[in-house]
Amino acid sequence: MTGSCHAIECGGKTLLVDCGLFQGDPQTDAANAGDFGLDPARVDVLLLTHAHLDHCGRIPLLVKRGFKGEIIATAATRELTRLVLLDAAHQQDEEAKSRKHSAELRGESDAGFAPVYGLIDALSAFDRFGRTAAYDQPIDVATDVRVAFVNAGHILGSASIVLDLVEGDRRRRVIFSGDLGPTGRPLLRDADPPANADVVVMETTYGDRMHRPLDQTVEEFDEAVNDCFRRGGNVVVPTFALERTQEVLYYTRTH
Ligand SMILES: [Zn+2]
Repeated sequence: MTGSCHAIECGGKTLLVDCGLFQGDPQTDAANAGDFGLDPARVDVLLLTHAHLDHCGRIPLLVKRGFKGEIIATAATRELTRLVLLDAAHQQDEEAKSRKHSAELRGESDAGFAPVYGLIDALSAFDRFGRTAAYDQPIDVATDVRVAFVNAGHILGSASIVLDLVEGDRRRRVIFSGDLGPTGRPLLRDADPPANADVVVMETTYGDRMHRPLDQTVEEFDEAVNDCFRRGGNVVVPTFALERTQEVLYYTRTH
């Protein structure tokens, strides 16, 4: 569910869809530092569905290891990715310092963690951003590869990516869903269903779970906050900085 990264080869070109960081437990450190499974210098184009770290977080490492191609994303994804990657470089630096400190306290010399990239790598990655994708406007990525970004309703700028691939007399339409947003959210438009396809590659982070209707969730949140205030307490809300925080602020201002 994290570390999203898919390669497509067509007509002599190599494309990646997303280049995300693995997240979740300490075992992911090795996965993040590990091989991409292909030579980054061979990748011609990176198509980015959205700016969450599990979809963009390894881009600086890809660049550090030789990627010289073009990153194509929507304007909002490009701007948010800059913030996310700078933050990721900073977080890794902080993590390294903290683990070094803990190791020293234990009298060990090996902290067991090294950042996979730094601030300079994150800044270098920004130079690889090329064309800006507008929703539903096809872009010719190569002679036989045309892509279109379709609103995925997940976070600002998020997209499903439709690839029209031609190789000899074979034609295939492949859709990468990226993360898809729920419907009926207050700050974002609902996802637009993409056109039909031969193949759909889809992530289902919450695929095994039924979500309650949004109004019930908001009501529970509202009650928890008000209950805390009634008892004279302070409310601390640990939440994703990107998208979820904006929703929480929206509901606290409108309730
Ligand atoms: Zn996401």
